[in-house]
Amino acid sequence: MTRSVSIFGATGSIGQNTLDLIRRDRASYRIVALTGGRNISQLAQDAIEFGAEIAVTCFEDALPDLRRALAGTSVQVAAGPEALIEAADRPADWTMSAIVGAAGLAPGFHALRHGRTLALANKESLVTAGPLLMAEARAHGARILPVDSEHSAVFQALVGEDIAAVEQVIITASGGALRDWPAERLAKATVKDALAHPNWDMGQRITIDSASMFNKALELIETREFFGVAPEKIGALIHPQSLVHALVGFQDGALMAHIGPHDMRHAIGYALNWPERQNLPVERLNLADIGSLDFAKPDETRFPALRLARDVMQIGGHAGTVFNAAKEVALDHFIAGDIAFTGMSALVEDTLDAISHEIRLHDAINSLETVLETDHLTRVRANQLAKTLQETPV
Ligand code: NAD
Ligand code: MG
Repeated sequence: MTRSVSIFGATGSIGQNTLDLIRRDRASYRIVALTGGRNISQLAQDAIEFGAEIAVTCFEDALPDLRRALAGTSVQVAAGPEALIEAADRPADWTMSAIVGAAGLAPGFHALRHGRTLALANKESLVTAGPLLMAEARAHGARILPVDSEHSAVFQALVGEDIAAVEQVIITASGGALRDWPAERLAKATVKDALAHPNWDMGQRITIDSASMFNKALELIETREFFGVAPEKIGALIHPQSLVHALVGFQDGALMAHIGPHDMRHAIGYALNWPERQNLPVERLNLADIGSLDFAKPDETRFPALRLARDVMQIGGHAGTVFNAAKEVALDHFIAGDIAFTGMSALVEDTLDAISHEIRLHDAINSLETVLETDHLTRVRANQLAKTLQETPV
């Protein structure tokens, strides 16, 4: 029996790894929608190879190029945020949410309404609107499976366990490219420095977020939202080898660790084959060759993102929405060269503070519209505050 699949963010790092797995078992899948951005040649090539029903670029001005690239094929073409939603409204048994940023939220929401499976790589969805997304899944009898490697690891460690017996959930962090840099040097780190990730090969934005520890900060909140574990039970641990992805501690003292290669095809493949396990084309680890695994406490002074994430989890409500949007704006400004590497956490903290005087952060989020309004307001404020940061010499 073939399964229908849609991939949002198909041209990205997660999207391409997903297609790599599907390509190996081509006859088992029927591709409904593939979406991308400016990389039209990749999108068109994949749409043709996999016989997609529709290919969508999120950029309206890229539609003529996409149309040209797919002329004479049976693939339908569309462009823009509305088209992404229409594509998500087409039923698929399994949908990969791998757009980067809050832009991934709405398509994921719509895909849940078919009551099937949403494989969630887009961590921003849970950080921005966790309670809503989980409620939407419940309301439609849909299942969300984690694709972030740490959350896939926690999910696997919890199979057959009672969540009430969980004492702690620890997600690991490689520490990113700048792990050992002293504070003064961090202030001068460039985009190129932040992109030199020691272990994982990922999209540009998440790689910089790894260097700033904002990626781990988002993942702490993602853990809270996905598993419903109390904030004080959730922690991060520096683990430079990135082989232990997460550990779940139980009330009898057992600590279940998930160990695996740093290859996203493991977590993607687990979500694709769940509840079964299938043979995956990933490296088999030889622990005797590896010899030792190291762990250390993260430094929240040099990397304040983790401290901010704990504050956000304690506040709840809209704090995650603000945190994520402010982080996205801060990252844009760092990439553009407007603010220093260390300016990112300062900007996020200042934005959280500014917004807390404008809206009641603690209030539970009750609709996608409010989330999008808060997201918008945050981006306006963060951009204003970024200007003042730019004027402050580092
Ligand atoms: P990427 O930058 O490689 O790819 C992003 C995809 O999203 C591309 O297809 C791009 O065209 C599309 N896109 C970008 N902006 C968009 C917009 N505004 N609207 C619609 N589509 C847009 O990113 P990635 O590394 O594959 O990461 C995707 C998601 O998965 C992120 O949320 C990331 O945090 C998460 N994730 C990635 C990894 C990894 O190893 N790459 C691991 C864990 C989680
Ligand atoms: Mg991760």
